[in-house]
Amino acid sequence: VQTRFPPEPNGYLHIGHAKAICLDFGIARKYGGTCNLRFDDTNPIKEDVEYVDSIQEDIQWLGFRWENIYYASDYFDQLFEFALWLIDHGHAYIDEQTAEAIAEQKGSPTQPGRESPFRNRPTAESRDLFLRMNSGEFDEGAMTLRAKIDMASPNMHFRDPIIYRIIKTPHHRTGRTWNVYPMYDFAHGQSDYFEGVTHSLCTLEFEVHRPLYDYFIDRLIESPFKTEDNYRTRQTEFNRLNLTYTVMSKRKLLQLVKEHRVNGWDDPRMPTLCGMRRRGYSPESIRNFIDSIGYTKFDALNDVALLEASVREDLNRKATRVSAVLDPVKLVITNYPDGQTEEMEAVNNPENEADGTHTITFSKNLWIERADFMEEAPRKFFRMTPGKEVRLKNAYIVKCTGCTKDAEGNITEIRAEYDADSKSGMPGADRKVKGTLHWVSADHCLKAEVREYDRLFSIENPSADERDFRELLNPESLTVRENCYVERYLAEKKPGDYLQFQRTGYFMLDPDTTEGHLVFNKTVGLKDTWAKKAKA
Ligand code: ATP
Ligand code: MG
Repeated sequence: VQTRFPPEPNGYLHIGHAKAICLDFGIARKYGGTCNLRFDDTNPIKEDVEYVDSIQEDIQWLGFRWENIYYASDYFDQLFEFALWLIDHGHAYIDEQTAEAIAEQKGSPTQPGRESPFRNRPTAESRDLFLRMNSGEFDEGAMTLRAKIDMASPNMHFRDPIIYRIIKTPHHRTGRTWNVYPMYDFAHGQSDYFEGVTHSLCTLEFEVHRPLYDYFIDRLIESPFKTEDNYRTRQTEFNRLNLTYTVMSKRKLLQLVKEHRVNGWDDPRMPTLCGMRRRGYSPESIRNFIDSIGYTKFDALNDVALLEASVREDLNRKATRVSAVLDPVKLVITNYPDGQTEEMEAVNNPENEADGTHTITFSKNLWIERADFMEEAPRKFFRMTPGKEVRLKNAYIVKCTGCTKDAEGNITEIRAEYDADSKSGMPGADRKVKGTLHWVSADHCLKAEVREYDRLFSIENPSADERDFRELLNPESLTVRENCYVERYLAEKKPGDYLQFQRTGYFMLDPDTTEGHLVFNKTVGLKDTWAKKAKA
């Protein structure tokens, strides 16, 4: 078994590509075969080494290793010679009509097309023109090389498809060597054949291209370019991945980047692999999600909530539990001695004992979440409210004694008293209280910026909407919180470390972090048990 993943280096990989990668590399792995990475670099206008590099990085991050790296441009010589052979054998001709005229003669699926007036020109004339096209004598669009197949075929792709066009933009690998470039259909199948690919897996939209894919391989086998092992590669199609609330077309994603509607390809709201990595998704969670949706012959729209569930499931196993207060309000433990501190032991991950513990400093002045206090609370509010007890995570049970408000009625400070005998882990400290709150010590914490993300688009399927997709962007997809406090232990963390801010969600340090300015991305929230209880 030999497969390949064939991206065009004209953008960054997105989660749709991950579906193709998991299949291409997965099938090879399963059957003890190999998978190559092949760049389908046949259109220099849109391609760039930036994309070549990012594609390699993203595949490796996802957990796959290719056997070889190939480029369609490696075959430009062979393809050009093969095109000349087709011309010589009456299978191709130079058409001097405009693209519009050619399109206009194509006919429709129910109506045959019309033949080009250049279709039956002498082969020597086509050969001469093709060589001169490549030497740079003609302008872009002046003429094309077309395969001479069947203008009446029920398969539109057989109606004398264009196989070469003039492009004067330098190529990122071959520079100015070529002035003509093969079309996708004239490069893809041949590249598969030259490499000895056994299973050419691609998405459903290529099903209608398959007869043409086979046609060119048939011609290759008749030509001097027949390979020694002459393996007859077969194309098999599978369904594309589409996700709710996002778009998957590279053209549209590029537009979002170029128009600064997002902050680059790796903006954590993007469906790109680099965006997801930056946001804190793990490669395992993406692979598990792809496994769970499977491969079919029907295009579907998959719920992004399924992906998020997969992320939660994996990060629950991986993430280090830490304390961070995103919307802080002061809590003073009035009976705790001034200036005293204690190092409290915090378990890094209750799902994995081997992850060990770290310590968090406790003191008299703490920060807690504003939403964790209510002056007048409903009966089922198991957080902080005057007269009730709660546990401060990894520390003591405290009883709220009241609060202070400013002139507008905003709560500026909450007061509580601690029970010195209730320290977590001490004998007899397992007295039952309903709520456990997270906190950080005001004098022993770090300030942080936290970026929270919502869906990039406001509607489920922006690709199916008639409006310009940019009008469908969710204006509230990014919320920045500037005044968060996190425990000091987080100073040691790096982008790539999976974190759970207890009771809030999963987070990851962002590369925008600088000395003294921590920035975190919210990966995904925890399930909100309070919301669920409230509903019940
Ligand atoms: P564009 O968005 O420019 O049309 P593309 O998405 O087809 O490009 P390629 O670089 O040609 O991008 O894709 C490389 C491989 O990934 C192809 O085999 C393609 O079928 C597959 N692929 C692309 N998008 C998806 C998707 N959404 N789901 C599954 N596979 C995909
Ligand atoms: Mg493509």
